[in-house]
Amino acid sequence: MIGAISSKQVCELLYRTCLRVGDTAMPRRCVSCQLGLQSAHQRGGLKDFLCRACQALVLNSPEIRCKRCGLTLGPRPQAFGWTHCRHCRPLVAENPPNRVDCVVCCDYTAPFDQWITRLKYGKAHGVARFLGHWLALETLETTGLQPDLLIPVPCSPDKLKQRGYNQAALIARHAGRVLQRPVHTDWLIKTSEAGAQAELGREERLKNLRGAFQATRPVPANLRIGLVDDVMTTGATLQSCVAALEKAGANSIVLMAVCRTPE
Ligand SMILES: [Zn+2]
Ligand SMILES: [Zn+2]
Repeated sequence: MIGAISSKQVCELLYRTCLRVGDTAMPRRCVSCQLGLQSAHQRGGLKDFLCRACQALVLNSPEIRCKRCGLTLGPRPQAFGWTHCRHCRPLVAENPPNRVDCVVCCDYTAPFDQWITRLKYGKAHGVARFLGHWLALETLETTGLQPDLLIPVPCSPDKLKQRGYNQAALIARHAGRVLQRPVHTDWLIKTSEAGAQAELGREERLKNLRGAFQATRPVPANLRIGLVDDVMTTGATLQSCVAALEKAGANSIVLMAVCRTPE
């Protein structure tokens, strides 16, 4: 009964069919080094996207990271019971946050930074598919919990017009497919174009971004929200989004960023 199939299901079916046709028509390549993958290449999870050498790189990158800003905590932090980095420890002690957790796949260093560049400037949708997959699996592994829904960090209307797409939304769409969770690109908007962030330090970034994001509707407190971004630089953008979502009622947020700029 065609009437019983929603347009969303039709889109999903078309998407999967296109992937299958694409896989058959074109030999698959490693998303990192572009090496051709043999048809017998192992399928399943991240191995689907990477050659053996690049798999080793990705699968060897897990780190224990700060639960607030995603910085690596150094060797064997569990031994000291650390959950936060030296920047976040005093902040958390002074002002305990609502339930916020942080998931990061890797540091923003080579070769991972090149993947993000390809995604941002080369419309590399295959890379988005891989990064969304990786972020979804990393979220399940780090937190052991499924977010109820995903919200990408929005970009300004000007940026969207210029680039034609929001790379955080692309990653969120693919992560949502893996997690089988809805993705809401219109629950959070960027209301003002903050000044250039690149030259600013941690505190200045936060000040610069204050009030730059706004939730477009009340957020039910019982929902666990996955807030998705491609790169977390100092965490100021994500913290500003968290403030906007909390103002709208959210009380459980997991920050999901593919890369984190190291110290
Ligand atoms: Zn490779
Ligand atoms: Zn931290």
